[in-house]
Amino acid sequence: MTDLDAFRSDTRAWLEANCPPEMREPMRGEKDLCWGGRNWTFQSDGQRRWLEVMAERGWTVADWPKEYGGGGLTAEEARVLKQEMARIGARPPLTSFGISMLGPALLNFGTEEQKKHYLPQIARGEVRWCQGYSEPGAGSDLAGLQTKAEDKGDHWLVNGQKVWTSYADQADWIFCLTRTSSESKQGGISFLLFDMETPGVSTKPILLISGNSPFCETFFDDVKVPKEQIVGEVNKGWDVAKYLLGHEREMIAGMGLGSGIGTGGQSVTLGGWLKPTDQFLRADIAAFDVDALAFAAMSERFAAMWKAGEAHPASPSMMKYAGTELNKRRNELVMAGGGSDTLEWDSERSKGGKAPRDWLRSKGNSIEGGTSEIQLNIVAKHILRLPGA
Ligand SMILES: Cc1cc2nc3c(=O)[nH]c(=O)nc-3n(C[C@H](O)[C@H](O)[C@H](O)COP(=O)(O)OP(=O)(O)OC[C@H]3O[C@@H](n4cnc5c(N)ncnc54)[C@H](O)[C@@H]3O)c2cc1C
Repeated sequence: MTDLDAFRSDTRAWLEANCPPEMREPMRGEKDLCWGGRNWTFQSDGQRRWLEVMAERGWTVADWPKEYGGGGLTAEEARVLKQEMARIGARPPLTSFGISMLGPALLNFGTEEQKKHYLPQIARGEVRWCQGYSEPGAGSDLAGLQTKAEDKGDHWLVNGQKVWTSYADQADWIFCLTRTSSESKQGGISFLLFDMETPGVSTKPILLISGNSPFCETFFDDVKVPKEQIVGEVNKGWDVAKYLLGHEREMIAGMGLGSGIGTGGQSVTLGGWLKPTDQFLRADIAAFDVDALAFAAMSERFAAMWKAGEAHPASPSMMKYAGTELNKRRNELVMAGGGSDTLEWDSERSKGGKAPRDWLRSKGNSIEGGTSEIQLNIVAKHILRLPGA
């Protein structure tokens, strides 16, 4: 038996013993994902226990170093853990922008003090983070951002506005791009961290077509930020921002895998909508399945290369584009499969409207984290090296 086989059998036994039964059931809605943080209300004792036991082992961030609250697993071990969790249908114990975005950026750019302070809080789900990047005049042209941070000696004074800040009204802290110099566009940006309860921070939810308000306008009015809460050097925040965006795109690309649901046929039938008899729909599902399996294989290859530092720097853009297009197709199929039942917003037949809400939400996939057009531009320019791109 190899070491990895032994790790697999120990992991399997541990998961069997520690993953609460209700955490092995398919998720019905967004609240079934645990986001953690100061304001989080656990949906069940099982959800709380699952977070606690996984965090205790460092398995909420299995491949982070142990000294920062991680599990210290190798890439292969982390993959085995994922496979074993998928085998029993275990939900992720914790989902957060701290894990998928800020953590990797801190591991790469943070000081030792910052890593020791912020990373274990993220791993234990104690602090929920939001992302303050986009502004009313700076989305695709992100480096055009105008939120200003002035150096006031012992602190930064932040003034300005962000928009589309996901969960800003529920988050505890924000990682925020600010302008610290107007002399250079990319070279005048600094990456700050601050508490959302700091005086001068306010949020206003934006109501969406899906009926939810997952994001906000976020306002900063003379917000005082301690000097040491900068990641990387002053005016070098664009490097941190870009690195983080790579991880954000990797995370969003993962939606193409369908949250572990798998292939198109499974998505549609597991949704409980149908036994597809329509031959055209069956053909669409088959075509989707082929693409979904190819994407899953490509994702594994990408993840291995990305972790080993061998992936092309623009490859997250390629993965993000492919994964989000796939996820949109998956949701289209579920809607087609469910027929008129899935059009009902809030009924038993539509299972509380999960399918139409997910379908509408998926439309944002090709906008969030950088639009599809921008990803295609990046692929054209940096990977395909097309002229004029
Ligand atoms: C669900 C969701 C969650 C989000 N969460 C966050 C968050 O937490 N924090 C945050 O900071 N932001 C967040 N965003 C914002 C997101 O990053 C921006 O919406 C995105 O970067 C696009 O910017 P924009 O909305 O200003 O559109 P614009 O940049 O104004 O783009 C409008 C259209 O023009 C196209 N376009 C623009 N420039 C070019 C070009 N050079 N070539 C070709 N086409 C172009 C775009 O592709 C798009 O179709 C979120 C967005 C969504 C949908």
